[in-house]
Amino acid sequence: MTTALSVKDLCKTYSGGFQALKGISFDVQPGDFMAMLGPNGAGKSTTIGIITSLVNKTSGSVSIYGCDVDVDFFAAKMHIGVVPQEFNFNQFEKVGDIVRTQAGYYGLDKRTAAERAEKYLKLLDLWEKRDESARMLSGGMKRRLMIARALVHEPKLLILDEPTAGVDIELRRSMWGFLEQLNASGTTIILTTHYLEEAEHLCRTIAIIDQGQIIHQGSMKKFLAGLDKETFILDLERDI
Ligand code: ADP
Ligand code: MG
Repeated sequence: MTTALSVKDLCKTYSGGFQALKGISFDVQPGDFMAMLGPNGAGKSTTIGIITSLVNKTSGSVSIYGCDVDVDFFAAKMHIGVVPQEFNFNQFEKVGDIVRTQAGYYGLDKRTAAERAEKYLKLLDLWEKRDESARMLSGGMKRRLMIARALVHEPKLLILDEPTAGVDIELRRSMWGFLEQLNASGTTIILTTHYLEEAEHLCRTIAIIDQGQIIHQGSMKKFLAGLDKETFILDLERDI
């Protein structure tokens, strides 16, 4: 079976000389739901930025369902959807237009784009808001809008960067239900989070990143069995 995501020896030095990634390697298997945990500044968003070609890497390689992002950029892009940590849509654009426009970027024709936008806006409970300007939405709705936008081309791999940060517990749980269903229907998911309970609830595997390096990767069950939770949570809340 083709690996869903293969990351090899990623290094990133930002202009200014700061080395954010010091050789990150990990594989994600199809159908997995993987948590990427690590304290603030560990390098999670940088890793995701490189996987999704939004950040230039210094060295290393990324392959998505067998497509090297440097060689087969468009095919790799079709396999992946991303929900970034920061809101990155035009706040003055209408909700429906944001999702339809994104479908256009993936080469979907107008009719399919409109159908997919309707399908995913309904799934994320935003259909009623389609003619409203995105700035009118609550924080949770904006996050859901980015999920609808990330799914419009029906990618095999969905990556979410701290999708529940600052979202209240009730909304967080409803988002969990949605992601569980999506994973059950076959979508591979990677989620970065600060909340261990969230990773524990949702994910089957875990990768822990600290100071630009993977310090642990494996099954969630085994990880939890050998864990001193209190110390670990304190460590996660540490800012570098
Ligand atoms: P995380 O998502 O785990 O909180 P990031 O990947 O955002 O961590 O950041 C990793 C490190 O790289 C941090 O020390 C951060 O300050 C630094 N960094 C992130 N983006 C930039 C940038 N554009 N220029 C310089 N340094 C950056
Ligand atoms: Mg981040």
